[in-house]
Amino acid sequence: MDEERYNSPILIVDDDAALLQALPQVVDLRMKNVHVETCDSANHALELIKENDYDAIVSDVKMPGMDGIELLSHVHEIRPDTPVLLITGHGDHGLAIQAIRGGAYDYILKPIDRDTFVAALQRAIQTRQLSRKVVEQQLALSLHAKSLGRLVEKRTHELVVANATKDKFLTIVSHELRSPLTNLKGMTQLMRRQLEKGDAVNAVHQGLVDMERSISRTEVLVQDLLDTSLMETNLFELNRHPCDLVELCRNLLSDYTRRSILQLNCELLGDPIEVDIDRERISQVVINLLSNARKYSTRGTPITITLQQSGYEVILSVRDVGVGIPQEELPHIFEQFYRVPGIEVQTGNRSGLGLGLFIARKIVERHGGHIEVQSAPGQGSNFSVILPRYIDPTRTNETEIQPITHTQAVWTITH
Ligand code: ADP
Repeated sequence: MDEERYNSPILIVDDDAALLQALPQVVDLRMKNVHVETCDSANHALELIKENDYDAIVSDVKMPGMDGIELLSHVHEIRPDTPVLLITGHGDHGLAIQAIRGGAYDYILKPIDRDTFVAALQRAIQTRQLSRKVVEQQLALSLHAKSLGRLVEKRTHELVVANATKDKFLTIVSHELRSPLTNLKGMTQLMRRQLEKGDAVNAVHQGLVDMERSISRTEVLVQDLLDTSLMETNLFELNRHPCDLVELCRNLLSDYTRRSILQLNCELLGDPIEVDIDRERISQVVINLLSNARKYSTRGTPITITLQQSGYEVILSVRDVGVGIPQEELPHIFEQFYRVPGIEVQTGNRSGLGLGLFIARKIVERHGGHIEVQSAPGQGSNFSVILPRYIDPTRTNETEIQPITHTQAVWTITH
């Protein structure tokens, strides 16, 4: 056991040279793992005690200069946990009582009985070792209590944040869903009134157009909520395949601009860039960045989509020259339900739930990439999606991978 291997240092103090020689011999002969130091005066002993943490101190009571009782009171001040055994002369009962009242661990009568001495010393050493252990355990316990305290604080903070997010969620969702529903209700009432008046064709046509718009808006909101909940519960799966990002963007942009009747110009179309992605999800990210660029810039201004290749990465940027975002807001725009306060939608649909960029970031991160943004109020924004390139291990020639940034495709949409 550790205790047995432990070398207990003890100090014996006595002005009697014979005893100072005999007692260490007794200890050496009868006790294991005890290291004895000796000194012949209380003053010298005090110096040693200041420097060393003894497991026990044995001292004669009667010594010239400072006596054992005074030494005991100094030991209590410097080393309150160190047990002190005092040696008193036979018949000095008064001194023995004084020693015990003064806090001595025990007293030993002269002439010293070896067995009694060894037993008392053994007990003193064990007491000291136990008290050391108690201190260590108290320290370990208080450290543990502190770390538990920190954990509770952290969890409480997380719960408070989660609760606040839930409240925010309920407020935003109920508010956002109410407006398309109110529209739908208004439209159906209007259609019924028009039908009663006999103006069926016009009423039904206009009503259906408006209803379709409200339904699409509700669909987008519900899809954003569904995506967010999939991400929160880690049920979000990617269906990845190698594909050419240039071609994906070309098709996506041409579809998007055709459906929204926007002008699309292709200014450069270079070599393919292979990526290993979920086409649907990355398309969702690009559409989200495009619709934000449209929402937050005025009609007639250009939106530029650029594809660059840089070493092992691909950079897909969507740049607008719209309202821009203040610097202090940039760290927050990828958070759930975050919408920059005071920024008005410039074109098209009103602002959404503040989930689009959160979902986009999660999708890109799941692909091993990240999203960056540069923006300045009044000057516009540039969102960059950085994705790892797909490197076909059977075709790779290391010299092909150039760290230089190379622009592969540029499109401009005027909206
Ligand atoms: P939202 O549905 O509100 O557009 P997003 O998560 O897509 O939610 O965007 C979060 C917020 O970031 C927006 O409400 C808007 O304030 C700001 N934002 C996003 N894109 C742009 C942009 N291109 N220009 C200026 N502000 C933007």
